[in-house]
Amino acid sequence: MTAPETGVAEPLARALIRIEWHTDEHDCENCGSSYAEGAVIHIEGREPIEMLPSAHCFDGTSYSEADVYTRIIEELGYRVAHEDRGNESDDYSDNSSIFGDDED
Ligand SMILES: [Zn+2]
Repeated sequence: MTAPETGVAEPLARALIRIEWHTDEHDCENCGSSYAEGAVIHIEGREPIEMLPSAHCFDGTSYSEADVYTRIIEELGYRVAHEDRGNESDDYSDNSSIFGDDED
């Protein structure tokens, strides 16, 4: 795709968020190898946010993709709560009739 050449610089409608994914590995004779992941977040017009991984024997630092996206959302001014609702559908499969469906 090529932008139309109007001679006027098109203002960017939305800031670009560039996520630089990093991984780190650590090999230890005793513990074997460990692995960590993380990212550096570049939000256009802001200071980069470093969530760099550090693989280590026991207390390495690793950030999941969810951690990274959560950080971005928080940076944009929202709070995020992750709730693990488990697998509820299994628990209630026997009582599905109490929800009434379309049986009226
Ligand atoms: Zn070790």
